[in-house]
Amino acid sequence: MEILDGRKISNQIKDEIAAQVAKMKERGEKVPHLAAVLVGNDGASLTYVGSKVKACERVGFESTLVRMPNTTSELELLNKIKELNNDDDIDGFIVQLPLPKQIDTQKVLMAVDPEKDVDGFHPMNFGKMALDMSTFIPATPFGILELLERYEVETKGKNTVVIGRSHIVGRPMSILMGRKGFPGNSTVTLTHSHTRDLKDITRNADIVITALGQPEFLKADMVKDGVVVIDVGITRVPDETAKKGYRIAGDVDFDEVSKKASYITPVPGGVGPMTIAMLLKNTLLARERHRAVKAGK
Ligand code: NAD
Repeated sequence: MEILDGRKISNQIKDEIAAQVAKMKERGEKVPHLAAVLVGNDGASLTYVGSKVKACERVGFESTLVRMPNTTSELELLNKIKELNNDDDIDGFIVQLPLPKQIDTQKVLMAVDPEKDVDGFHPMNFGKMALDMSTFIPATPFGILELLERYEVETKGKNTVVIGRSHIVGRPMSILMGRKGFPGNSTVTLTHSHTRDLKDITRNADIVITALGQPEFLKADMVKDGVVVIDVGITRVPDETAKKGYRIAGDVDFDEVSKKASYITPVPGGVGPMTIAMLLKNTLLARERHRAVKAGK
């Protein structure tokens, strides 16, 4: 069994990006600038946004954190997005989800300029992804592809089962694993809360990608020997023995499933750090595209 070490690979990617940023600086070019909009005070969202800002510093990007109160109206947020769309200094930005319930998330994601949509959530970018066109691939699926690629995990002709059909992980992952190329060329089954006899499906899987948010959902008797397991789940489970009062749990019963797996991602230290690294990669891509547009290429 080999661990797919997201922490190690994400650090490699950050080093690669930092080297590119250093070259940009040497040439006197503008460095990438990522902005993050955070509405409200959700603890997990604060942590995620904090990590993203810290990662920007680490690679030499500029970053801006826009904080808005929990009572922000939809119109106020849409106006802020318009401002960021029109700000030439910002190469890409994200709106941290979830949003307070008075705000229509879909409306907000649609308002982001697709050329600055480094989360890849705008329907135009999602459509391009589905059509194999160059675009911003959502960071978590992009991170999983990168892990599979760097560990040279064979995906061609394999049965890949994705559990969970969210717009940000499960659904795009199912599309990407079925694409032509590597990683891809898998035969994909997308499963969800209405799937019957899930165990029969996962037992036939060569690769299982769990993105449902239920701690230790995937048990050893649900997988075959040699399976590749990618655990996207991040759930805070109350734990009095932990300093913060909780621990982070994945969707996989790691101790048991890892005994049967050929490759497996840990939680934490697997997909999570990859997500941030790929957000940086998308921001770098956005900067390069904006520069090319300005140069009239
Ligand atoms: P979500 O919470 O929006 O949806 C969950 C999905 O799981 C749904 O499609 C539902 O149909 C499916 N599901 C629920 N119960 C099921 C069952 N018993 N059998 C089969 N399918 C079932 O999904 P999300 O936003 O993709 O989040 C999933 C998990 O991934 C969460 O723990 C989240 O915190 C985590 N996450 C991690 C990262 C990362 O960077 N590692 C990024 C995004 C989300």
